[in-house]
Amino acid sequence: MLAENAHLAEHNHERLTAKGIRSVDVMGSIGSGKTAMIIKMATQLKKKGVGVAVIAGDVTGEDDYKRFKEAGIEAYNVNTGKECHLESNLIERTLDKMDLDGIGFVFIENVGNLVCPADFPLGTDVRMVVISVTEGDDMVRKHPMIFTSSDVAVLNKVDLAGYMEVDVEVLKSDYSKIVRNKPLYLTSVKTGEGIEAVMKAIGATK
Ligand code: MG
Repeated sequence: MLAENAHLAEHNHERLTAKGIRSVDVMGSIGSGKTAMIIKMATQLKKKGVGVAVIAGDVTGEDDYKRFKEAGIEAYNVNTGKECHLESNLIERTLDKMDLDGIGFVFIENVGNLVCPADFPLGTDVRMVVISVTEGDDMVRKHPMIFTSSDVAVLNKVDLAGYMEVDVEVLKSDYSKIVRNKPLYLTSVKTGEGIEAVMKAIGATK
């Protein structure tokens, strides 16, 4: 099953790159701010004239999908039914429905958790994981796999660190023990802090 997913992921990647589309798999915990961060980055890309589409993955429902649509972003809803992660075949079927001409960037919002998505690459250029200070300071060391399988890691809601009594340095230190030579990006979607750096890291801006 993992091999088949990986094979289909390669196929998705070829398909996207053939159209000149850059893509990011946005993984992360529930409530870490994945949807809000994607809206923020997609809106900035659109202002620069880049065509953006979002594939919104959830177990059930259309909540995130509706948020993207309300923000004026082209979006496609994918429900996994009971699975706690997206798989390449679901992305393939969604790409079938999309008009890829005119799109320069695709965000895929994965199902919110730090376990299942780690083993299932979808064929994106970049895999990114988002956590936030509201989950406590042990999120990185409890879930090393998702951090080692991601290219970019983000700690969101840093503006709330003081209120949550979370020491950001602990999370940074845990991350540096698991992933060498890469920063843990600190962001606040609310204040805009760090968003530009993440956009650079995922290749959304130069
Ligand atoms: Mg979400």
